[in-house]
Amino acid sequence: MTVSPQQLDAVLARIDADLDQSLERLFALLRIKSISTDPAFAGDCRACAEHLSRDLAGIGFVAGVKATGGHPAVVAKSPAGNGGPRVLFYGHYDVQPVDPVDLWRVPPFEPRIETLADGRKAIVARGACDDKGQVMTFVEACRAFKAVTGSLPLPITMLLEGEEECGSKNLPAFVESSKSELDADLALVCDTGMWDPKTPAITTSLRGLVYEEVTVTAADRDLHSGLFGGAAQNPIRVLSKILGALHDDDGRVTIPGFYDGIHDLPPEVARQWAALDITAENFLGPVGLSVPAGEKGRSILEQVSSRPTAEVNGIWGGYTGEGSKTVIPSQASAKVSFRLVAGQDPLKIRDGFRAFVNARLPADCSARFIDHSAGPALMLDWGMKPLAAAKRALSEEWGREALLIGSGGSIPICGDFKRVLGLDTLLIGFGLDDDRVHSPNEKYDLTSFHKGMRSWARVLAALAG
Ligand SMILES: [Zn+2]
Repeated sequence: MTVSPQQLDAVLARIDADLDQSLERLFALLRIKSISTDPAFAGDCRACAEHLSRDLAGIGFVAGVKATGGHPAVVAKSPAGNGGPRVLFYGHYDVQPVDPVDLWRVPPFEPRIETLADGRKAIVARGACDDKGQVMTFVEACRAFKAVTGSLPLPITMLLEGEEECGSKNLPAFVESSKSELDADLALVCDTGMWDPKTPAITTSLRGLVYEEVTVTAADRDLHSGLFGGAAQNPIRVLSKILGALHDDDGRVTIPGFYDGIHDLPPEVARQWAALDITAENFLGPVGLSVPAGEKGRSILEQVSSRPTAEVNGIWGGYTGEGSKTVIPSQASAKVSFRLVAGQDPLKIRDGFRAFVNARLPADCSARFIDHSAGPALMLDWGMKPLAAAKRALSEEWGREALLIGSGGSIPICGDFKRVLGLDTLLIGFGLDDDRVHSPNEKYDLTSFHKGMRSWARVLAALAG
């Protein structure tokens, strides 16, 4: 159904008038302790799913709580009869644990509005942003459409999972087995952020992740460094030399073929990024750093989002206890991860890393690998129509041009949507860098919530048209 400007205005007015009630509904959701990683809260997770299912049924969705291998998922479908592209909205109702609980200014499951030092008002509670507040921006936009026009502007399926914060282990299988139910033309995900408090953003690329654990073994036991030192191979020396060779002096990864298949940014995106004021001072300064350590000749924004990386995330071996122990260890280990961009094949990168290590092992040493993850990057077609429509809608709501940005992180569900359902995903969210997601005193700006609801109303109208 095409939404007329008058109808859209009425929906937006409804959202404004209903703000207090929509806050009440968000607060009710935030009071449910849906901590997914701790089995003690399994009942709360189920209660949260049931709560959402009831709420969605109340605005006309055919909604149900669906069993998965773990915490249940909520699937809600708008009744048949609506024309227009079908969208699949994804969010999660589970939250992170709250400890250390004594660092919270308010009890984490008793939401309240606080005024920040700079005058902004914010909802403070566990899940206020990630992801209950963000999910409700979408639900409330649907509610307003239903109230004003009697129906939704386009067919919507909602998938709300309860295991995002503990790895979404059961989600790929659930998507696979619910393929026909989740069938759609486009996926929408609201688990990302704005560029800054005034500038909306659409995340159009996500980096992939290959995560390896490597253990180098030399002697068949730990050795006395006085008796054997000098003659015995030391696996810590071997491993650190190999890891040290992963980058050249220009910060480029030296694994053969690592950069194969990668494209540079489209010129208009490169221009938009160049105009953003990202400097070593304002990006690295706040974490106590001053000089970008990535590839020479690439901007900071490129280094953290559109270029691939290799990082050592952990390294251990030998004696690390108190005092001294003169030992040449038998083994040394490291965890090494690669953030990938579009064009890179995760399995090729994984194999390339393993070959890189094996080729550098001296006599008497062997290497063992554990595969912790191997997921590809995602990139939207910059020319796709829904992207342009959503960008226009967001720009209208916020009064400034929405940015197309790349995220350095990974959201694996988008890969499953592409692989299993063939869907591209628009990632639109209203989180801010200072939301303290996963930390004590998590918050969501009242503006993010209010204008987030209005933004979704505009985006849905734009997609329907
Ligand atoms: Zn999270």
